[in-house]
Amino acid sequence: MRLTASDLAFGYPERPVGTGLNLSVEAGEVLCLLGPNGCGKTTLFKTLLGLLRPQGGGVTLGGDALAGLPRAEIARRIAYVPQAQDTAFPYAASDLVLMGRVAHRGVFAAPTAEDRTIALNSLTELGIAELAAREVTTLSGGQRQLVIVARAMAQAARLIVMDEPTASLDFGNQVTVLAEIRKLVARGTGVILSTHDPDQAFAVASRVALMQDGIIVAQGTPSEVLTATRLKAVYGVDVTVERLAGGQTVCAPVYPH
Ligand code: ADP
Repeated sequence: MRLTASDLAFGYPERPVGTGLNLSVEAGEVLCLLGPNGCGKTTLFKTLLGLLRPQGGGVTLGGDALAGLPRAEIARRIAYVPQAQDTAFPYAASDLVLMGRVAHRGVFAAPTAEDRTIALNSLTELGIAELAAREVTTLSGGQRQLVIVARAMAQAARLIVMDEPTASLDFGNQVTVLAEIRKLVARGTGVILSTHDPDQAFAVASRVALMQDGIIVAQGTPSEVLTATRLKAVYGVDVTVERLAGGQTVCAPVYPH
């Protein structure tokens, strides 16, 4: 299953955001999208999911034009973890996760025992099984975010789009989610995620796309793209990029004296 955007123009009716965008992600790899606030990451993701209509070019999902696929078929192929959100309805966490199964059984069918097992397994993998019966409106932002990640896992799509999935998480839970992403990818899921943390890209990404003002200014492996020079050009800060003895690469800002 491959998601491909070709010469994509995207944005809102009164506000074009990006043009000439080409990217592709395959099941089994992680594409990390980095770029400053407001550069167009969320708008791009909504366009890749068919929630916004392209303003030019096109998106294909598993070889089919996205525009011609029914919503339920899109949901069987690609799951979405939106940016941390306030959930208005006091669903139990387990019921919110079960909504990930709707793509497989239809809106009006009762969840099966298998659906419930899959939902509980997703919560367990993320270490939050004890939250299953809690109303999501009573959870912390970070706990709720983990529940939304569990919902995407329960959806069992071959591709997952994650919009800043670690943004509201504490340090431990950031690592939990990144480790989960690595497990999903090892099992053949493809992930596109946005993050503000270059270290996360080094930790999980097969490829990185760096975006500025709606344009992808560089795309390649993390070490090809995330150089000190490019990070300075895009974010305006001096950084050092270093490889640790254990093999992991990290970026550290250099603070002015
Ligand atoms: P990012 O996710 O990279 O922070 P966004 O995709 O959210 O950026 O925003 C890209 C641009 O589109 C910004 O200039 C933002 O103000 C604008 N924008 C976001 N949502 C809307 C909307 N619903 N209608 C019009 N403009 C929007």
